[in-house]
Amino acid sequence: MLVLKTTDQEFSTRFQSLVSDRREATVDVSGTVRDILAHVKTHGDAAVQEYTSRFDHYSPHSHHLSAAFISEQAAKCSDEVKAALELAAARISSFHQKQLPQDIGYTDAAGVKLGLNWVALSQVGIYVPGGRASYPSSVLMNALPAKIAGVERIVMTVPMPHGEINPAVLAAAQVAGVTEIYSIGGAQAVGALAYGTETITPVDKIVGPGNAYVAEAKRQVFGTVGIDSIAGPSEILVVADRQNNPEWIAWDLLSQAEHDPSAQSILITDSESFAQQVIGTVEQILTTLPTTKVASSSWQNHGAVIIVRDLAESIPLLNQLAPEHVELCVDNPQLLASQIKCAGSLFLGRYTPEAIGDYLGGPNHVLPTSRSARFASGLSVYDFLKRITYLECNQAALQKIGQSAVTLAETEGLPAHAGSVSVRLQALRNE
Ligand code: NAD
Repeated sequence: MLVLKTTDQEFSTRFQSLVSDRREATVDVSGTVRDILAHVKTHGDAAVQEYTSRFDHYSPHSHHLSAAFISEQAAKCSDEVKAALELAAARISSFHQKQLPQDIGYTDAAGVKLGLNWVALSQVGIYVPGGRASYPSSVLMNALPAKIAGVERIVMTVPMPHGEINPAVLAAAQVAGVTEIYSIGGAQAVGALAYGTETITPVDKIVGPGNAYVAEAKRQVFGTVGIDSIAGPSEILVVADRQNNPEWIAWDLLSQAEHDPSAQSILITDSESFAQQVIGTVEQILTTLPTTKVASSSWQNHGAVIIVRDLAESIPLLNQLAPEHVELCVDNPQLLASQIKCAGSLFLGRYTPEAIGDYLGGPNHVLPTSRSARFASGLSVYDFLKRITYLECNQAALQKIGQSAVTLAETEGLPAHAGSVSVRLQALRNE
């Protein structure tokens, strides 16, 4: 774990190396993934069966989960879990509903009618990870925005190692209204969704997080289908003053560290003694945390504490780091928030732990990582919508703007372009 002070002489160099720290797995899986995708493309279901048997040790007659199986599994969830999923779904739906954009349409001064219509994608695939852990929250975060956007067919894939699944994953699918589910994972699931098999009709876009094989497969099928983003290891940056309870901040830092040994947790504070208290508490919690192996590795190798003179100094540092999650644990968080340009999602004040956003805050938990918040945003209904623009000229409108189009077409040396406009203009002149 790195401790930096902005007053140190070496600060700038050391901070830059923190910014450029590459935490993704260094193992190159591209060749393996290319082979799997090619095999699935050629051999369809047989290849999917073969890989599922090899990697997930599961060989059912069909990977399609029946409605009866889904209901039977979902029914195993406690009422408490079902109620929590319902609350999460309601809050996520309500926030994403508000994102639905308006079409544009107007007639301009030349008399041209023009506009833009938002249209939902027809069919999307949702990858729900299931290798080492299960993620009912990911089902809701991926499926609900698609539903709200108006996607007609939502296909979910989730691996079931040894034929097992957390019932809450299927309960979440029920809550989100997803009915077409296949028990497959990894690159073979991505290939099946992109190319189709005898039993799986291909989709137009694949969304959802996953391990290195899933991420690389999404990268390789991009173009055949759309994808959302390539998710890297999680990140949290907490800006906290000395008035915070150090234990609360320590738990917040560990909440992301426990995701992945490559995850990154960073504290920025204006108090050295507070920083020391948080570091001590993190170490103390790590001695008892059931996820300590992963969390310790993340904290030791990628964790950082930055001591600033004044919290205002945190803003340019934060904007450079462009973290996935930012907590502003201060009295007037809006003041700092208004200056943040690069972050996936903000958690404001002392009573908004980031974990609330992971499950049921409302905004999406699929967020840009690895500094991609410089140019990207979290998953939303926009990921499931396309824009189709339109133009309609009447005779008078074409006469007003047509000749300039002919001029530009001739300038570009494209006579058929010019001709398609000029024949109409000529006909109108002859009327
Ligand atoms: P996963 O479903 O992504 O991967 C499991 C699949 O990997 C298996 O089905 C298998 O096909 C494939 N695989 C495993 N070993 C392989 C090998 N040697 N060769 C080829 N394929 C192989 O599940 P996971 O492994 O648990 O990973 C889930 C990831 O998703 C984690 O990194 C987790 O942090 C991340 N995640 C991110 C978010 C988010 O919102 N950013 C949410 C949930 C999970």
